[in-house]
Amino acid sequence: MSSPTSPSSPSSPAGPSKHVTHWIGGASVATAGSAPRRGEIFDPATGRVTGRVDFAEVSEVDQAVAAAAAAFADWRHASLARRTQVLFAFRELLNSRKDELASIIVSEHGKVHADALGEIARGMEAVEYACGIPQLLKGGFSEQASTGIDVYSIRQPLGPVAIISPFNFPAMVPMWFFPAAIAAGNTVIVKPSEKDPSSSNFLAELWKQAGLPDGVFNVVHGDKVAVDRLLEHPEVKSVSFVGSTPIARYVYETGTRYGKRVQALGGAKNHMLVLPDADLDLAADAAVNAGFGAAGERCMAVSVLVAVETVADELVAKVKERMAGLKVGPGCNGDSEMGPLVTGAHRDKVTAYLDSGVADGAELAVDGRKHPIAEADAAGDSTADGFWLGPTLFDRVQPGMSVYTDEIFGPVLSVVRVPSYEAGLDLINRNPYGNGTAIFTNDGGAARRFQNEVEVGMVGINVPIPVPVGYYSFGGWKASLFGDSHAYGPEAVHFFTRGKVVTQRWLDPSHGGINLGFPTNN
Ligand code: NAD
Repeated sequence: MSSPTSPSSPSSPAGPSKHVTHWIGGASVATAGSAPRRGEIFDPATGRVTGRVDFAEVSEVDQAVAAAAAAFADWRHASLARRTQVLFAFRELLNSRKDELASIIVSEHGKVHADALGEIARGMEAVEYACGIPQLLKGGFSEQASTGIDVYSIRQPLGPVAIISPFNFPAMVPMWFFPAAIAAGNTVIVKPSEKDPSSSNFLAELWKQAGLPDGVFNVVHGDKVAVDRLLEHPEVKSVSFVGSTPIARYVYETGTRYGKRVQALGGAKNHMLVLPDADLDLAADAAVNAGFGAAGERCMAVSVLVAVETVADELVAKVKERMAGLKVGPGCNGDSEMGPLVTGAHRDKVTAYLDSGVADGAELAVDGRKHPIAEADAAGDSTADGFWLGPTLFDRVQPGMSVYTDEIFGPVLSVVRVPSYEAGLDLINRNPYGNGTAIFTNDGGAARRFQNEVEVGMVGINVPIPVPVGYYSFGGWKASLFGDSHAYGPEAVHFFTRGKVVTQRWLDPSHGGINLGFPTNN
């Protein structure tokens, strides 16, 4: 193992003037040139710029792909035992340094520390799953498929693969993909979000310490220039993308045009349907947890609470009561439950939806602008600088309103009242997104009908955020996923390998002679 690298090294620094560079071939690499393009990194809790991240040009992407291609030649032949040992070592290092990684996430994303630890734990599940790669890569074998002939299947790695991730889970989302990719013998180029880039460099350093050969795990930072080069580069064999729906569609269309295998996970509008027989306290807790955790910046956040009319008043009252007690504050404070939004621009975009919801006729039941921390921020109080907005609740939202149609990706929960289960189901199935959904009920028959009839990829029954455990796979339907492979779990092993079937015959003393007919199995 190489010696540990401090997280305050140039590639994954902490402090007021950090400079985040690419990670190529096992070392930190800056963008070349005298005036490289760079992005600013903010601390969302203070609004201050804490560092800068280099943006890759085509030449840095090419350098990373070349490193990945060179490393592939050996890594694909590394024994399963060796790969597994590296994965276990990575898992142990990650576990022992998860607090440091969580602090990096908090400082750039803004979510609270416990939530950052939660995303690391969920990412670690994918690492643990990939530790079982010897079992997962077993093929089939048919002895004597034809007389004297055996047939067997093997799965082989693709080559260098690209992973392009969003801002909201800077550690977990890359971990949805790279453990299985690396375990299966591929080499990786990660392009993280430019808003919170440091986590990927921290993970790169852990890989190096775990004994992964240089060039197997690379990171390029940047924007569309880097993404476009990865999409068109002939040596990149697959693309795993997570982000908003318009970019997911673009990545899918472009990557497949260049002949690549692509899975592109997009945006969401997740509905939680509450039937009259539900435990309303449980449902209210769940709606608040799933609506406002991570300030609503989760692709599995509940953004629409679908209440059957007979219990809607009571449910809304219970939700309001719980919202009043939410502790909003910096993510590094131990008692904060909800942090700021990721950038000032995003906070302003989310805030604009409060005006449009009111203009459209929705009832603003709780106004996040009136939360003390948001008011202090708006009044110029320097102790509340940062990208603040309190939790917001709209009632009596109608499907045509922009607060219903758009993915807001902030702490805004919309209540849509419906007359019946059927109307609620119809609303969910007419929505263009299909990432996650939940039903709250004590009626097993209704729940069973819902899981059968709803057109959504991940379903919770009295569970508001049904992110599958690491040995299932994660993925939505409709505009929430382009391509046919979901993330992590069994589908990841399939995505990051391609099948080969071998038909073998070892000569025995009986020879069949010449036969020009198509082979049949007798
Ligand atoms: P985004 O689409 O803005 O960015 C995602 C990635 O694409 C980033 O790496 C970014 O640099 C890159 N990118 C942005 N614009 C691009 C362009 N024009 N061309 C090429 N690349 C571009 O998403 P975001 O704001 O970082 O993340 C939030 C979105 O991600 C939400 O829509 C959320 O629902 C979605 N998301 C989905 C899932 C899922 O599993 N379905 C999970 C997490 C987040």
